[in-house]
Amino acid sequence: MTLRYAVFGHPVAHSLSPRIHAAFARQQNLAMTYEAIDAGPEDFAKALAAFAAAGGQGANITLPHKQAALALCTSSSERAQRAGVANTLVRREGGWHGDNTDGIGLVRDLSERHALDLRERRTLLLGAGGAAHGVAPALIDAGIGELFIVNRTPDRADALADAIGEPGRVHTRYWDDLGNLGTFDFIVNATSAGREQGEMSLPMAMITSRTLAVDLSYGEAAIPFLAWARSAGCTQAIDGLGMLVEQAAESFNLWHGMRPDTAEIYAELSGRAVALATGD
Ligand code: NAP
Repeated sequence: MTLRYAVFGHPVAHSLSPRIHAAFARQQNLAMTYEAIDAGPEDFAKALAAFAAAGGQGANITLPHKQAALALCTSSSERAQRAGVANTLVRREGGWHGDNTDGIGLVRDLSERHALDLRERRTLLLGAGGAAHGVAPALIDAGIGELFIVNRTPDRADALADAIGEPGRVHTRYWDDLGNLGTFDFIVNATSAGREQGEMSLPMAMITSRTLAVDLSYGEAAIPFLAWARSAGCTQAIDGLGMLVEQAAESFNLWHGMRPDTAEIYAELSGRAVALATGD
């Protein structure tokens, strides 16, 4: 029987996951199918159940279903529980097992592909949605210094800080206070502002030439934040394409027990990155 995998989202036509997983499968000589399944919030649970009934063995989950997916799992990894959202499901006897590969995907991209040392970096995380929940614990585990979380809706930043549970190291601040927080060694944009063509007001004084600026988005959605960072003097500005490929590789490994080489597909996609729609 051919192994069957899918990404669920709404919309999902933009997703690069089918292309990335097809490349991994070719590389590993694995016969599998990987399709994109568009299901609205009211249809998601039914669509996932139908996929399982038809032999689906694993799934990636993207917006807006990451939280709902975790709730539908019968078991989940510690990193999915810490994130509160699942982006990877593995079919096990008795139900779905939920995991979250976003955090490890970001850390691998930065520390392995870009050879960056994240330790002790004074860090600002912009956003407190699903992606921020996925990456914050992994950044803490990677040894960053203090973490400041700032979100347009402050309550969500507080909830994320509470979930991390390290009050001495993790702080929340209001967006309006960004100008008073000093400089950062590492700024992560985990908002969807670029994707929604929303405006973000960010003070340039937060950046020095040594600041690492990372946008989890890629393609056109990453342009405004990365352009802002460069114009403020940042010399290292990185988009989320490498994270996308690395989180996919980690999902692939969870399903098949094989870690694919990501260099080739990353090079292929980054060659035309600006033209790509964003998503995960
Ligand atoms: P989400 O759960 O919908 O959260 C969106 C976040 O963006 C919230 O914190 C929201 O603030 C904030 N936001 C939206 N518009 C804003 C604006 N105009 N100004 C300031 N803040 C704004 O989305 P998500 O899943 O976290 O995804 C966030 C981004 O990460 C997306 O662009 C997604 O494509 C990207 N991502 C990339 C990867 C990858 O592998 N590279 C993986 C996951 C996600 P409020 O709370 O105030 O609404």
